[in-house]
Amino acid sequence: MDNIEKLNEVLKESNDTVFFGGAGVSTESGIPDFRGESGLFSVAFDYPPETVLSHRFFTKRPEVFWEFYFQRMVYTDAKPNQAHLKLAEMEKAGKLSAVITQNIDGLHQAAGSRIVFELHGSIHRNYCMECGKFFPLEYIYKFKNTTRKPVCDECGGIIKPDVVLYQEPLDQILFSNAVKKVEEAEVLMVGGTSLNVYPAAGLLRHFNGDHLILINKSSTRYDANADIVIHGKIGEILSQVDI
Ligand code: NAD
Repeated sequence: MDNIEKLNEVLKESNDTVFFGGAGVSTESGIPDFRGESGLFSVAFDYPPETVLSHRFFTKRPEVFWEFYFQRMVYTDAKPNQAHLKLAEMEKAGKLSAVITQNIDGLHQAAGSRIVFELHGSIHRNYCMECGKFFPLEYIYKFKNTTRKPVCDECGGIIKPDVVLYQEPLDQILFSNAVKKVEEAEVLMVGGTSLNVYPAAGLLRHFNGDHLILINKSSTRYDANADIVIHGKIGEILSQVDI
């Protein structure tokens, strides 16, 4: 039996599968990851992504932050790929109880997934740091290629994307709820993540279920702990799942 057949068998028998993913889930939609072979860590920019996407840079060097953010983190034309679509289909069929993602691109919801834990927030939500008013991506996108930074149309306060920057904590209630989903799962399917970013990657330690599945282009430090390891493109692999 090959690994795809094993994957299908495990998913067919499970009544509670949880998916946990990262930037690799969206590379087939044209959004670069960080640590993959053509990821943002390999692209020349004046500062490394972890520096620019930090709370300190957002407050001290907003012009550099916004230039990087609009150029490298926001892809308005990106569409869900076969991985997002299959996961949404699995949820609809009652085969998937949650998607937990480190991504901020909103493509799981665009594909139709409803139970999505966005551990690192979303580019689609932005809020005024003064009055708390929320703004969609379209509002702040108007500031792209200008020298102005996004400000609130009510009070003139600075707008921040509702994404978790380096040096910022995760939403603890959201994270606890994601931990609970992982603790209760029979099957944990992990994909498109280097499992290098904590505390998100620490979710795997909470899994007590029957089968851990890892789907990633490259190997990860958790490969030895998994029951099924498939190295390849997650969209191509999940498109072979029969539900
Ligand atoms: P990462 O860049 O550290 O790792 C991505 C992993 O996915 C790599 O191991 C790579 O080999 C693998 N990969 C790439 N394409 C793949 C594919 N088609 N199929 C299977 N595997 C594939 O990503 P991470 O672990 O999610 O951590 C990066 C952080 O950056 C996260 O916190 C995330 O919020 C953020 N980020 C998000 C986006 C997005 O929202 N789409 C994009 C870039 C970075």
